[in-house]
Amino acid sequence: MKIQIYNTLSHSKEEFIPIDKKEIKIYSCGPTVYSYAHIGNFRTYVFMDNLRRMFKYNGYKLNHVMNITDVGHLTSDADTGEDKMEKAAKKEGKDPYEIAEFYTKAFMEDMKKLNIDMPNIISKATDNIEEMLELVKEIVKRGYAYETSKGIYFDVSKLDKYPVLSNNKVEDQEAGARIEVDSEKKNPYDFALWIKAKENHIMKWDSPWGKSYPGWHLECSAMSKKFLGKHFDIHTGGIDHIPIHHENEIAQSKGATGEIPANYWMHCEFLLVNGGKMSKSLGNIYTLKDLEERGIEPLAYKLFCFSSHYRNKLNFTFEGVKASQISLNRLREGYLKHINENEEVEENKIKDYENRFNEAINDDLNMPLALGILWEVIKEPKKSKKYAKLVEKFDEVFGLDLKNSIKYNKQELEIPDEIKKLLEDRKIARLHKDWQESDRIRDKIKNLGYAVKDTQDGMKIEKIQ
Ligand code: AMP
Ligand code: ZN
Repeated sequence: MKIQIYNTLSHSKEEFIPIDKKEIKIYSCGPTVYSYAHIGNFRTYVFMDNLRRMFKYNGYKLNHVMNITDVGHLTSDADTGEDKMEKAAKKEGKDPYEIAEFYTKAFMEDMKKLNIDMPNIISKATDNIEEMLELVKEIVKRGYAYETSKGIYFDVSKLDKYPVLSNNKVEDQEAGARIEVDSEKKNPYDFALWIKAKENHIMKWDSPWGKSYPGWHLECSAMSKKFLGKHFDIHTGGIDHIPIHHENEIAQSKGATGEIPANYWMHCEFLLVNGGKMSKSLGNIYTLKDLEERGIEPLAYKLFCFSSHYRNKLNFTFEGVKASQISLNRLREGYLKHINENEEVEENKIKDYENRFNEAINDDLNMPLALGILWEVIKEPKKSKKYAKLVEKFDEVFGLDLKNSIKYNKQELEIPDEIKKLLEDRKIARLHKDWQESDRIRDKIKNLGYAVKDTQDGMKIEKIQ
């Protein structure tokens, strides 16, 4: 079956044609590890997971690389401000390498909680300094860069076309607009490939231009070339990467090799809060831990992500994600109702569900539609193991760990509906910090023979013997 994906490069949905039918090569921009990743960041990684799973479901093998940015990402995505790693290190009174290690570990743990299928190569920027230096030298040699007192700058005017991803005119590029006036630069929108370090800068390396460090965009060009070659299939990231980071990655690669490195550029839209971007700099972020503390599982957040297509904005609310937790519980219950039953099922019906599901996921990852089909199977009035197997198959793409439903839902299945309803009401009361109502419901549950305990992992319920 044909796979259609939206390509930011052509501004249209295209049929996906791999360079090599046997193995798809993907590069994904990874996290900057200077603090905990927030659930907005994870929307983009849920999209990445979804893409991987869709290709695997279609029988493809993947060679997939993701970077960990542990140097060079300044507080603005363009070349202004402090290095995010060094700023965090100073704030926490630690070494930048310690900061990177701590937040990389936290990131990996969260990715596991979201049941994200991980890229086979995950590499840190600081482990690729040699490759980055070689790339800068190559770009300089080919005449696409020049030296100033601050560093080595890419000369955007040398390109046949810039920008190529966004429909912006060059003078509207955010990088150009935001950049401080620098009389040494040939064009205002030229960007730093390599930055000469000030005396007190911690992360710096020897180079032909003295002690210095890489510009943020360089690592992705160097690592994709190192691990995937100069030409690969797909490059992914969040939508904010289009105007600066990916535009500059393309510029660098064209400077070094003459080619746009990837055939397809895919971008995930933003998770919003109250209609605005969720971002660390705006201070309106939530982490997975914040959700867990309110009794919402990371997998419920993943399900919440599927309520909107990855190219549409998604507004985060606690009510919304709470509803996803309830839906996840229902999906698990529904799956378990099918698993041990053997009512007769027409083979055609199974085939029909599969075809519709395949069409949905292969149409640029239409997950809201695919989710609707999953619900139809779950709600089938005839209960059969065959439907349970179909749910397991579809879940290869959702990655909600439904085949282990028993592990998550055991307790809920054993308690009566009336108690379940009271538990949900109590969760909502607690969400609104209505402690009086929460205690009232707890006492009511107790009178019905059940004890509620509030634990780090949310509410636990036990039958009073
Ligand atoms: P960073 O760690 O800042 O480099 O971001 C990691 C990834 O999260 C990048 O691909 C960003 O584009 C993406 N991202 C950042 N904020 C959001 C958001 N609010 N919604 C979705 N993706 C985001
Ligand atoms: Zn990148």
